[in-house]
Order: sequence, then structure tokens, then C-alpha cells
Amino acid sequence: MSSVLRSSILHHFQSLHMIGVRTLTSERVGFAPVGSHELRDPVPPALLAFKDPRAFQVKSWWELIRALGVFRLCSYPVLVNNCGKIMSFTRAILGKRVFAMVLRPFVYAQFVAGETESEIAVSMEKMNSLGLHPMLAVPIEEDLGESSGEKRYDDNLAAMLECVRMSHSNGWSKDPMMQLKITALVSPELCVKLTSLLKKQHYDLDLLVRAMDGEAITFPGLSETENTHFLLGLKRLNQIGEASVNKVRVLVDAEYTYMNPALSLITMAMMKKFNRDSAWIWNTYQCYLKESRDLVFDAIRLSVDQSFCLGVKLVRGAYMDKERKLAKKEGRADPIHQSWEHTNDSYNGSLEVMLNLISQQPDHYKIIVATHNEESVRKAVTWMTELGIARDRGSVCFGQLLGMCDHVSLTLAQQGFSVYKSVPYGSVDDTLPYLVRRAQENRTVLQGIRKERDLLRQELRRRVREKITRAK
Ligand SMILES: Cc1cc2nc3c(=O)[nH]c(=O)nc-3n(C[C@H](O)[C@H](O)[C@H](O)COP(=O)(O)OP(=O)(O)OC[C@H]3O[C@@H](n4cnc5c(N)ncnc54)[C@H](O)[C@@H]3O)c2cc1C
Repeated sequence: MSSVLRSSILHHFQSLHMIGVRTLTSERVGFAPVGSHELRDPVPPALLAFKDPRAFQVKSWWELIRALGVFRLCSYPVLVNNCGKIMSFTRAILGKRVFAMVLRPFVYAQFVAGETESEIAVSMEKMNSLGLHPMLAVPIEEDLGESSGEKRYDDNLAAMLECVRMSHSNGWSKDPMMQLKITALVSPELCVKLTSLLKKQHYDLDLLVRAMDGEAITFPGLSETENTHFLLGLKRLNQIGEASVNKVRVLVDAEYTYMNPALSLITMAMMKKFNRDSAWIWNTYQCYLKESRDLVFDAIRLSVDQSFCLGVKLVRGAYMDKERKLAKKEGRADPIHQSWEHTNDSYNGSLEVMLNLISQQPDHYKIIVATHNEESVRKAVTWMTELGIARDRGSVCFGQLLGMCDHVSLTLAQQGFSVYKSVPYGSVDDTLPYLVRRAQENRTVLQGIRKERDLLRQELRRRVREKITRAK
């Protein structure tokens, strides 16, 4: 990054600390959406405590009981650690159909929107009525050793293009976003190879852009077969870009460190091609990585140098256990921050940098604060007020996963913020790996889930008391 830009960002970063966090005093009760004239008012601190069980008033009895049951199950480490094996075993005993029937109303319904477009539409309309936006995700999970021929990637492309269409062509899809996994369209093996090549050589973004446009580029370091697959993969990604520009913002997922540099290179090339006037393609930054702050700064520099708009999905990171195990096995230094507190500092630091930039150039920089962490959400909301960033213009959005931390999502939406729920969809079979990861992640999102369980219980107790009083 140019030293001028870095020092200007650091200056703003420091000045934010000097401003300090303002103490807000007004209190609002109730869950009616705020009026447009109130969008500039500070959010009452009582609401930012996310302690009001009324956020769950919109849920049915069954939804409350189901959520409590699922979170309870996720609290048993033995179940969570072995849930992949348990699910495969149960599926083998019960058979595919009965297994799907058992899972559908319970774990599946908690975390997945449905299988058919009409099922998805029901979930999305409900979400829309609560002021939440959908961020559809095709849960295709590919890792090393699982990749297959071009046909499989072309099928994945068709599924992704369908996701683009569904995201923007329905009544419920206002300002839509969707998630994209590059490894669904380019083999993980190639991404690993590119990542190792990137340590030794530089690939110009223009080279990738020209390949996306159909030019037969020869990429140094790749074999003929790898080169052919890369060209096909880039063309597939180009189709996604062309289908989504001016319609759907495409948020590219971050995956494992052994392939992330390649994923970022490809994403930056897509940004260069499609983000001339606005951010349609976004990249993800995992703040549990020690190098995450540098990666955010590098992206900012590149977006300035190469004149494209930068969209950032800021997450803590989902692959901590595997990353650590792998580093230990290979005798490398752990790429993950040494503690949750360090990850939090890293997350909040990058958040602060991005919000400062957005306050100056809201059309050039965008962020989705993709977290269930209440402290980070509180900081984002407070800094947005301090910096005068509009809640409803889409420069800053919030993101949570479907079925998780609804007390945070609903409170933010009610206060006029843009809130997206990451919504996977597909058959029980297709979403199983995603469900396993969800269960495992619920173990790490400790605070948020414990709080959600307490609030769900409070809301259930309130309803039971109300029933008893009415019956008397
Ligand atoms: C909309 C959305 C999109 C997402 N997209 C991606 C994606 O593309 N790629 C991806 O990797 N993840 C993604 N995630 C998942 C995300 O990275 C986190 O795993 C998840 O959100 C939990 O983090 P948190 O900030 O919500 O919660 P918190 O409970 O505050 O934090 C839990 C997280 O902190 C970190 N952590 C926990 N313990 C330690 C420790 N001992 N040392 C260091 N760090 C620790 C881990 O990252 C853990 O997941 C996404 C999440 C959302 C909501």
C-alpha cells in the first residue's frame, strides 16, 4: 500500500480512538421499526445490550421449541464433535428418505431455507416481513481430493446462475446479496497450486481479466491441463459476474489458508472487471488470521491503485481447528491468533479502518459486518453514529447466519440497519456437510448462542404465563 494512504488511514484510525465512544442515554422500548426521521438518532444502549426477548415474539411456538432443542443438542461436545459420523450412521440405518423426513422439520429447518423455489420463497417472505434481507448460498463444499471433472463444475455453475436469478427476480429480493465459493467452479487442487506459485511470482490482474474475456492466456507455472482448467474456471466466474452485475452483490467466501491467496487473486480480478462504478463483487477477510490486517490493507491499496470499488465481508473465520491441526502437522507457525481476545482485537481493528474509509468514500468502500459477536456489532453501530454513516444506504450492512442470533439480527433491522441472513438452500443430502459445519461452529459461537438460548427460554415462559393467566 502506498505509504501516503496507509498513514492517512492510520491517522483516521488514531483520531477515532481520540474521539472515544460516546455514551448514549435515550431509551426505546418496543419492536416497531424506527421512522426514517429517527435513523440518525443514536441507538438506545438498552437495545444494544440485545437482552430483550421480545425480538422472538415473531416466532411461532414450534420455532421457539425447535431452536431451543437444536441449540441444546449443539451444547454436547460429544454430539458436535462426532455429528458427521452420527449423521452418516443414522442415514445408513434409516435409509435416505426416512433420514431426510426426520431431519427436515428439526435441524434442517433451523438452518436451511428449503429445497424448492416455493419453499425458499416462504422463508424469504417471512424474513422480508421482519425487515431482514436474504443472502442466498448454494452450500457446495469442496476440499482437496474431492474435485471432479469439468462436468461437475459446469453443473455447479448452473446452480450458481440459478442462485443469481432467484436472488434478484423475486418480490422478496430487495438489494440482494449472494455467497459464492470459488472452489465450486475452480478445483481446490489448482487453487493450492496457484497459492504456492504466488509465493514466488506475481500474476497481473489484467492477465486474469483477459482470460475471463475469453483470451487463451498461458499462465506461467501451470501445466497445460491446469492452464486449460483455469481458463474454463475463469470463464465460469465471468458468467457469474456478468449475470449479477447491477443486480446482485456477490460475496466470495474465504476458505483455507492453503488456497486463500489464489481465491483472493481471482476475486480481485473479478473486482477489477466488475466493480468499476459500484461494488458488485466482494472479498472475505478472516480476522482470526494473524496476517488479516495486512490483507485488508493490501486490498485497500490495490483498489486505489487499480481504481475499483472494494466490498469487504469481515468475518472471524470458520476453519480454526483444521488450520491449527494442519500447521502443527506440517511444523509451521500457527496462522491463527493465539486467543479469541486477539481475534476480537483484530476484527474490531479492521472494522474501524473500514468504517473510517466508508465515512469518507461511501461509494468506493462497502462492508458487511458478518458476525454474531455482540461487542463487534455494538462497536460498529456506535462508530457508524460517531462517523455519521447512514444506516440504510448499504455502505455498511450486518450479516448473520440463518437460524443463529436472531435477537441480534431483529434488533438491528428494527433500528433501520441493513441486515442480511446467510441462507443456504438445497436438499437434505446436499446440505449435510453444511449442517455438520453449522453444528461445529455453534460450539465456537459460545456467547451468542448461550444468550439466544436464555432469551428463547424467557419468551417461552412469558407465553406460558400468558396462557395460564388467560385460562384463569
Ligand atoms: C454472513 C456470514 C458469512 C460468513 N462467511 C464466511 C467465510 O466466507 N469464510 C469463513 O471462514 N467464515 C465465514 N463465516 C463464519 C465466521 O467466520 C465465523 O466462524 C462465525 O461467524 C463465528 O464468529 P463470530 O464473529 O460470529 O462469533 P464469535 O463467537 O465472537 O467468535 C467465534 C470465532 O472466534 C474465533 N475464535 C474462537 N476461539 C478462538 C481462539 N481460541 N483463538 C483465536 N480465535 C478464536 C473463531 O474464528 C470462531 O469462529 C461467515 C459468517 C457469517 C455470519
